[in-house]
Amino acid sequence: MRQIYSSLFQGAALAAALTAFGAAPSFAQNGGKFGGTLNVVWGDPRSGSAGGDVRFSIALDGGKTYPLLVAPVDQGKAITSFGKHVVIDGRLTKDAHGNPAIQAQRIGAPPAAPPSHHATETRRVLYILLKYQGDSQEPHSEQFYLDLTNPKKGDLGKNIPASINGFFDKTSWHNLQWKADVTDWMKLPHPKTYYANCGWDQSCANLGALSNDAFALAVKAGVNLSVYDNINFVINNDLDCCAWGGGTSYQGKSYGATWEPPWGQETSVYSHEFGHSIGLPHSGWTYYAYDSPWDIMSKRTAAKTIQCGSYFSVNDGADRAINCTEPGDGYIAPHKDYLGWLPAENQVVIDAPRTKEIKLEANALPLRKGIKLVKICLAGLPCTGGSAHYLSVEARIGGKKYENGLTGDGVIIQDVYLNRGAIGGSCYFNSQSGFAVPIDATPGDWDAENCDSGGREWPDYALGNAQFLPGQTYRNNSLHVSVQVKKQEGSSYIVKVKRTN
Ligand SMILES: [Zn+2]
Repeated sequence: MRQIYSSLFQGAALAAALTAFGAAPSFAQNGGKFGGTLNVVWGDPRSGSAGGDVRFSIALDGGKTYPLLVAPVDQGKAITSFGKHVVIDGRLTKDAHGNPAIQAQRIGAPPAAPPSHHATETRRVLYILLKYQGDSQEPHSEQFYLDLTNPKKGDLGKNIPASINGFFDKTSWHNLQWKADVTDWMKLPHPKTYYANCGWDQSCANLGALSNDAFALAVKAGVNLSVYDNINFVINNDLDCCAWGGGTSYQGKSYGATWEPPWGQETSVYSHEFGHSIGLPHSGWTYYAYDSPWDIMSKRTAAKTIQCGSYFSVNDGADRAINCTEPGDGYIAPHKDYLGWLPAENQVVIDAPRTKEIKLEANALPLRKGIKLVKICLAGLPCTGGSAHYLSVEARIGGKKYENGLTGDGVIIQDVYLNRGAIGGSCYFNSQSGFAVPIDATPGDWDAENCDSGGREWPDYALGNAQFLPGQTYRNNSLHVSVQVKKQEGSSYIVKVKRTN
């Protein structure tokens, strides 16, 4: 197939081929409009490791999928279009591996509405269990993946401290549940080196090849793929640096998807990768990659850890323990809002200059009448839609599932910008930032010269102590905004928000 692409990769010839696959017809030279579903996948390294990647692709209306090269400045825009049908002004080119790709020059207007995950939803997910050719180990039984997902509670007898549905039921305020099925362990037609010919230090997984082989195996086994919203590709050994989550397309249908090596087949990693599969990016990147302990889409702080298995890790060349965890940092309020889980009556929107005192209830508590999010719109900037830019204010108090891994209690203020470009730099081992960047209540306790804590103990540096406490005020004169934390009242904080322009 690759040879056919190469021979076709000659301007007009490939342009004609793409037109035949369903791209819109207006081609000029190698450029033109490409209509299809935009997919994103995020690669996340193991805790404490470097690496990672974000890849974009477009499944053209005719069914063919191409890598989509997106400039860092357009990353946010592409992420808000995840899983959506888009029209891209683009140019045919080759990616870093020499394969045909589409360079996005302009991504069509982002959808007015965010992903439509509002109201109670049960997404059906199929775990496809896959063994590399020549590697017979099975890290868990088939039943393990059902036990990990379907019940509302973990089972310590099975070494599962928290279940995926337990996390999502609480965190989504009953908006999202998963109904999992599982295949038998099936043999892939190729060895690990064919799908991911590298170790921990690179992002080399050929997810397309792996997924296509897995889909074919599932179909051959009699699975009706059409009933599933999500596919979890479960691999019996390591991939590359990473565990992966996002979306994929197969034969004209798009799925949320995860690709997990054994170390990632547990509740916290799945809750992060499932987050990607429903359209969430990361948060954090204030000082370094994955630096926010306030969001499972960032640092991924566990509240409880139990060893639940082991495997012979081909990347390590040694046996490796598999840990199962209880997620400890939940989802942030702006992400819950983005997903449609936070009704308007539980938010306060400051959309004009004014001063308002608000009782802000802890994010981890059930959704009743309390206010969970304050959005401070900014003068002259859109506060809704795909270019929304505002400040978010939320209360975070530990002691409730699934926020028992928080580094403290207080008020978290974030700069939320959906159209934000990628954040990188010498202290960032990757630039997979997202919409929400926490504002630190204690700036100056991160050594940006040496990219370390400057001798401070966690969590007394960077975002470990980002929370604003009673008596503290965040003031931003250029944005004409201040947020004063007046006091704590039980599981709420009283905040006084002021916008003067
Ligand atoms: Zn991630």
